[in-house]
Parts: sequence; C-alpha cells; structure tokens
Amino acid sequence: MRSLSIFGATGSVGEQTVDLLRRAGGAEAFRVVALTGGRNLSRLADMARELRAEVAVCADALGLPELRERLAGSGVEAAAGPEAIAEAADRPADWVMSAIVGAAGLVPGIRALRHGAVLALANKESLVTAGPLLMAEAAQHGARILPVDSEHSAIFQALVGEDIAAVERIILTASGGALRDWPLEALAKATVSDALAHPNWAMGQRITIDSASMFNKALEVIETREFFGVEPEQIEVIIHPESLIHSMVGYRDGAIMAHLGAPDMRHAIGYALNWPARAELPVARLDLAQVATLTFRAPDLARYPALRLARAVMARRGLAGAAFNAAKEVALDQFLAGGIGFMEMAGVVEAVLEAMDADLGRENATMSLEDVQAVDHLARIRAAERAGEIARGRAGAGRWT
Ligand code: NAD
Ligand code: MG
Repeated sequence: MRSLSIFGATGSVGEQTVDLLRRAGGAEAFRVVALTGGRNLSRLADMARELRAEVAVCADALGLPELRERLAGSGVEAAAGPEAIAEAADRPADWVMSAIVGAAGLVPGIRALRHGAVLALANKESLVTAGPLLMAEAAQHGARILPVDSEHSAIFQALVGEDIAAVERIILTASGGALRDWPLEALAKATVSDALAHPNWAMGQRITIDSASMFNKALEVIETREFFGVEPEQIEVIIHPESLIHSMVGYRDGAIMAHLGAPDMRHAIGYALNWPARAELPVARLDLAQVATLTFRAPDLARYPALRLARAVMARRGLAGAAFNAAKEVALDQFLAGGIGFMEMAGVVEAVLEAMDADLGRENATMSLEDVQAVDHLARIRAAERAGEIARGRAGAGRWT
C-alpha cells in the first residue's frame, strides 16, 4: 500500500488533495502517515480520523491539548509546533504533499526529500527561497520533486519526452488577478477585500492577494528558473484572463506546446499523485466551442512592479530569493493588517533587496540552510522597519493636511 503525508492538509491545496484521496479510496487505499495543519484543529482532527493518519500535527505548540482531546480514542497520535512538523517529515512516506503556505514549508520539504520521497511541491516559496539547496537535496537522496503549481505542472507535462536543450522559451500565463481591469491610479487605494475577488481561481487568502499584485507570478518566474534550470531571458509572462491555458513551452523549431484545462487545482495535484500514469480526475471538461476565444495581453510593468523585481532577484541569484520571499511575506502581512497600501508592498520588497545587497554576494554553491534562514530573518526585520516608516509617514502626513 502506498504511504503518504500532507503538510498543510487543512489549506486550499491540502483539502483538494484530501478530496482526491477520498475519491481514490481514502484510508482503504493509502497508508496515511502524517497530516499537518495550522489553527483549524477541528478540521485537522476530522481528516486525521477519516484517513486514519498515524500522526496529526498542528503548527502552534499551544494547540496540543485541544488536538489531543479531539483525537482521543482515535488511535491518531497528536503533536504540535514547528519542530514536530519537521519530525513528521522525517517519517518515511512514498509521496509527500508540500502545501504549507510561505517559507515555513521549506524545512519539512527538505526533511522529506532526505528519505527519498516523491515531493509534490505546491509550496513555491521553498524553491524561491532556497532553490539550489532543494534541488541538491533531491539529487543527493534520489528523491523526486513534482511541481504542483498549475503553471509548473503544465510546463512539466509539456516537457514529457522532450529534451530541455530544445526549449527556447517558457511562457507563464497569468490571470491578472482581481484588480486586472482597474485603472492604474485606483490601485493605490485597493483594499484587502478588493484584492481577494479573484476572477477564476479559488485559493488561499495569501496567494489570492499575491495574484492581484503579481507577486505570485514573480515567485513563479523564479520557481521556473530554479526548477527547470532555464535562463531568466527564456521566461516570459503573458496575461491570459480566461485561465484555461495553464502555461506553454516554446521549442527551437517554433512549436509551442500548451496545457489546457479548467482552472481546478485537482488537475495539477492529481497529475502529481498519479505520475507517471494518468488517472480519471473529477474536473470539468472544456467545451471549446463554448469557450470560443482565448485572449492574451502583455503585462504592464508599471502596474506590476513585482515582475521587474523578479528579474532583479534572478540577476542577483544566491540568497536574493530568500530575501525577496521573506520581504514579500512581511509586506503582505502589513497590507493585510492595514499598515501599508496595495502598491506599497513592492516598495518594501525593493528597499529590502537594495539594503541587503552587501549581504547577498554569496554564490549558490555555498548556500546552506543556515545561510538561508539568516537572510530570511534579516529580511523580515528590514521589511518590517521599512513598512513601519511608510505607515508612520502616512500618519505624519495625515496630521498636517
Ligand atoms: P492556505 O492558506 O489555504 O493553506 C495553507 C496551509 O498551511 C494550511 O493548512 C495552514 O494551516 C498551514 N500553515 C499556514 N502557516 C503555517 C505555518 N507557519 N506552519 C505550518 N503550517 C502552516 O494556502 P494554499 O492556497 O493552500 O497554498 C498552499 C501553498 O500552495 C502555497 O505555497 C501556495 O503558493 C501554493 N499554491 C496554492 C494554489 C491554490 O490554488 N491554493 C495554487 C498554486 C500554488
Ligand atoms: Mg500558479
């Protein structure tokens, strides 16, 4: 029986993974080793009981008594805290879903790779933060990373049977997010609820706002570079409002291979779960006559400074990805808390990248987890300082006008 674990089981990707497992036979068909979640203890306990997991782990150490109580009599072990999540990743499993949001997904991903698992990677932040480290761990331990981000799953599928050396370009599609059709001048005033109204995809809160700002696409450009090993100049971004083409690979003979499907993450999760086979999936089938048209437009870099910053990160390489991701996470927290405006997130991230230039001159070859964590930590402090300056500047301006 195949064994598996899900990190971030209670999130959007995690729930959709559980849905596919349930449809494929659930606890009768898989041996579920570990399920982890954040604050939703009742959901975590319910799914651990249903899938008869060996262990359920919540992120907050203070949640342990309640999780234990909820699991009483089920035979499922309870554990809590970041170290317990990392230890759950040390338990061997054939297939591991990495679907924690943010840099917190990095350590469990690395620990899972160390026992040679197939790592289904939704957590793009770990490739952005420490791509060379993750790829080296996979190579060293004979583990395999399968992309779960829909774009990267599409690229991966368009590359099956092809030689990566024949690839000329990779074209990432972007929906443009909730604020795609807003006038540029209005973006500065966009609120959290404005940015959460995604036109096509139902996802977690953080990635939905990152879609509106295109920080999500910026992360994905870097993820493409790290995962597929192509040069930054080979990676293009195109806005495709219908979100039906999930991405494309252009070859040196001019051919372009595109992956199409309904905007449903179970395509990408299911591909990773069944790889290298394909199984029946409960996703809507496209009626192309009804779709009728597919449209595209070039992204306007004035609206999406995040795309420019992704290029700056790739030019710097090394630990710049760790600084970029950490600064972006803090900027997003500050936007969610009302401290800074929508368009000010990019300013915070850019200021951190510039401030950290002196620290980031190290080569990939020397990248260690400690280096990555040190840069992540420092970038968070600098980002919080910069966001504080912006917020104070606004309060100050308010007093005099
Ligand atoms: P989500 O917010 O819905 O779920 C995140 C999960 O991680 C939850 O289980 C949450 O409890 C847990 N979590 C949050 N903070 C944690 C921490 N500090 N430590 C441990 N666990 C923590 O997020 P999501 O939308 O499912 O996204 C998960 C990952 O997948 C992200 O990296 C995202 O970029 C990527 N992704 C998501 C989608 C999507 O459709 N939702 C698509 C592509 C990629
Ligand atoms: Mg994506």
